[in-house]
Amino acid sequence: MKPWRVAFFEQNSAANGNIEDDIKDFVVNAFHKAQRDALWKNSGTRLDTWHVSDFVSPCLRKSHYSKIPELKTAMNDEMAAILFQGVIVHDNVILGSINELTMCYDIEKRENIDPSTVKAMEKDDPRKKDILTGTLDDLLRIGDEYVIADKKTYNARGYVKKEASPEHILQVNIYKLMLKYSYGIEANYGCNLYLDKGDGYKELPMVYKTAPIEETQKFLETTLKSFKDGIPDPTITFLCNGKNKDKKIYCNFLEQCEKDGREKFV
Ligand code: SF4
Repeated sequence: MKPWRVAFFEQNSAANGNIEDDIKDFVVNAFHKAQRDALWKNSGTRLDTWHVSDFVSPCLRKSHYSKIPELKTAMNDEMAAILFQGVIVHDNVILGSINELTMCYDIEKRENIDPSTVKAMEKDDPRKKDILTGTLDDLLRIGDEYVIADKKTYNARGYVKKEASPEHILQVNIYKLMLKYSYGIEANYGCNLYLDKGDGYKELPMVYKTAPIEETQKFLETTLKSFKDGIPDPTITFLCNGKNKDKKIYCNFLEQCEKDGREKFV
């Protein structure tokens, strides 16, 4: 039985004697269980390699910590709710006939590798330390051009976004490289479709020309090296600077990061 199910069944059996409270607890717990089931189902294509999200994270040290099993913590309800919104959108907003395309790329060897080959590798296969996995949302053919489209949910709160976020552009550029190596297709354009959660998923498309593949290749190689060299330097961003209305910290590794000298970089 999946670990969170065990916890939920334990919770459900602990009725407190008030039927109305029991009903509320039951439906809320059942909803949280359904959320986690949906997230679990969607993580099915995650292979035990580097993931594109590790390379585009605002803080590489955070990506480094996320690979250390002892530092992993259970997902809280708030994070599950955020990820669940993304799952709903990705499951239901299919923009073209080629979507959710998973690709793998060996950064050191500069060659593609079939995801099924990676899946068949032993858990501790050292080759996995050089392999990057990514899943492209939608590949479109518009006019004579191939376009990589990537959907992003966000909360605009009245702010009008002027351009795509650098990390989202970088993500599309990495998909461009992987697509070229996997299928020989060169996508000269990228498009982030921003969907405002606070306004009925109001759409805002941001289109841009993608970067040359060699540029992205160098970025991947340099970043992989910094992962392999030990603990990358921390980058203090919105994830852990507490500069938000509720002074929230969005990184689960703050304690470890402080032990590893975070204050020298503040
Ligand atoms: S606490 Fe901040 S600097 Fe440290 S790993 Fe997390 S995000 Fe990076």
